[in-house]
Amino acid sequence: MKLYSTKNHNLSVDFETAVFNSLPADKGLYMPTFLPLLDTEVIANWDKKSLQEIAFDLAYALLKDDITAEELKAIVDEAANFEAPLVPLDKDVFVLELFHGPSLAFKDFGGRFMSRIMSHFLKKEHKEIRILVATSGDTGGAVALGFLNVPGIKVTILYPKGKVSLIQELQLTTNGNNIEALEVDGTFDDCQALVKQAFLDKDLNEKYNLTSANSINISRLIPQMFYYANSYARLKNQFKDVTFVTPSGNFGNIAAGMIAHKMGLPVKQFIAATNSNDIVPQYLTTGVYTARPSVQTLANAMDVGDPSNFVRILDLYGNDKVELEREFSSIAFDDSQIKQAIVKVYQEKGYIMCPHTATAYLAIEAEKAAGNQTAENAYVMLSTAHPCKFPDVFEELNIAYEIPSSVDELYHKERQQKPMTKHFEDFKTYLLGEG
Ligand SMILES: *Cc1c(COP(=O)(O)O)cnc(C)c1O
Repeated sequence: MKLYSTKNHNLSVDFETAVFNSLPADKGLYMPTFLPLLDTEVIANWDKKSLQEIAFDLAYALLKDDITAEELKAIVDEAANFEAPLVPLDKDVFVLELFHGPSLAFKDFGGRFMSRIMSHFLKKEHKEIRILVATSGDTGGAVALGFLNVPGIKVTILYPKGKVSLIQELQLTTNGNNIEALEVDGTFDDCQALVKQAFLDKDLNEKYNLTSANSINISRLIPQMFYYANSYARLKNQFKDVTFVTPSGNFGNIAAGMIAHKMGLPVKQFIAATNSNDIVPQYLTTGVYTARPSVQTLANAMDVGDPSNFVRILDLYGNDKVELEREFSSIAFDDSQIKQAIVKVYQEKGYIMCPHTATAYLAIEAEKAAGNQTAENAYVMLSTAHPCKFPDVFEELNIAYEIPSSVDELYHKERQQKPMTKHFEDFKTYLLGEG
């Protein structure tokens, strides 16, 4: 696979370069130069295939010049080694549960695939790598658990102080070994700015082979296509159309689904549900993209004021807003709506949604209220995290959920984070002072 920059379509780098650079020097984002179209017969047969088999079809179509079929199969099987079940909520609404991996969030797909891709290339090249990752909560846990004890890789995670839940913090800070966590006195946007600046810093790049594990890394996006395709496969014999509703922050998850669609996955509509950080809904309404400082919400993994991956979505549609809006819409909900939705679904269905997932539910309610529902269409709402990652919300709402045993174990581990300011000079001094 060759990739260009969203800022320069003449650029052409190979997959390995894009994975380790993470960002092109012009600060655009890498996108595949060419998206192969899957055979309709292959897709028609997906109802007879497993998640892992469908995943391989997609990954191989993209990466067949970069990794042998046998090696890729092993990587895919290891990365997607947990299920992504569809739970019916209504006759035409299905929850796609993406929280059955080690960090209990959808980012495990990306974290596990990326770590194995990197380690595959590292084995060939004998490189040592330093990964810098900014997290608003869930990325860090998925990356930490994805990379834990992978030889030749050290991971530095930056997270905003006081803005992640206790369980998220425990997942980030209790790993030790090759994983270190910095607690930044600032917002997620400050963390992301520190990481972005580090990649452009000459001194740091001389000392380290820096790379990023954020959702801007192309190897994080590829595995996120898998579960869209798998859901389609499970529903395609019952419904004519599928609409995906994705709780969105940095817009990497939904971008992956949209790439799969460009590769032939039949999808009627993509709906990006956001919290009060409504940059993209505002853009669709006004035609002007205005980044803002993020505001804190109950769905904190979506507290993003300048969603990086949205340029990838625009790029997929030739930066043509009219074309984009034929297949894509976006809608925002505030904290009080999120809470109401959680309570309603719990009372009516006995199903517990995390606050992120609740935005997707609300988007479907809005669709139905607008009369957009048809009997032929299934709505798939992506459930991006397990509710237990947000204990404060459920305590307030007086809803009890089951805690997975992996979480119980975390409480007995020691937190090992180090404090950091939001100033780049401090971060740089710290990194240069390390071995
Ligand atoms: C990261 C995350 C999101 C947002 O995903 P993007 O790819 O950044 O849009 C939504 N929900 C949860 C639980 C997350 O961790």
